[in-house]
Amino acid sequence: MSPTSMDDGAVRQRVLLLDLDGVLVDTRPVMEEAWHSVTRAHGIDVPFEAYEQHLGRPFDDIMARLGIADAGRVHETYSQASQAASHLARHFNGMTEVLHAFAAADWRLGIVTSKPLNRAAPLIAQLGCPFATVRTPGGPGRGKPAPDPLLLALVDLAADPACGTYVGDMEVDHEAARRAGVRYLHAGWGYGRPGTPTPAIAHSPSDLLQLLDVSDESAPFVAGSLL
Ligand SMILES: [Mg+2]
Repeated sequence: MSPTSMDDGAVRQRVLLLDLDGVLVDTRPVMEEAWHSVTRAHGIDVPFEAYEQHLGRPFDDIMARLGIADAGRVHETYSQASQAASHLARHFNGMTEVLHAFAAADWRLGIVTSKPLNRAAPLIAQLGCPFATVRTPGGPGRGKPAPDPLLLALVDLAADPACGTYVGDMEVDHEAARRAGVRYLHAGWGYGRPGTPTPAIAHSPSDLLQLLDVSDESAPFVAGSLL
């Protein structure tokens, strides 16, 4: 399929933005291991279940919400432990094939994550997909649930919000999409629930193709063929 023409003659490039943790890659075992290292090293008595409720927000934001001081040192421990446990991360089944199908149908792909770039980059590289933009914390703007990283990704791609869809797995992802004016699809295989009103839910990566009208005929990788 080719990009759709708009009334004003501009070309509407379809853009699929995706969260990383809980959408593209199953990093829950990594995060759980890293959080246990934090609790041991810093004597913090907060269970992983409390930490994971806030996934999707920038790390410092989560620390503030949990009432944990010295977020910088805690983040250092968390980051080192995450890297040590990175071998526990797994791609969700079928995700790579689905991303190739979107690319084959002329969609541009981007990642918007609250994971710092140094830890996100190896996971993204392993997916082997052509991401046109990757937005991580540390640049301009606020983190999710603010709309800023989604809007910045759209600016990167010179695309209108109306041309964008964001796939997330937490309520903050839903809120960020709503505030950015982009369509939201909830990854039902992820770690959290969407906010209200209930958005469309993809129960598997291949559901994304159906929900966004990407035909299987333009998805040669899904068909198991290189042609
Ligand atoms: Mg997530």
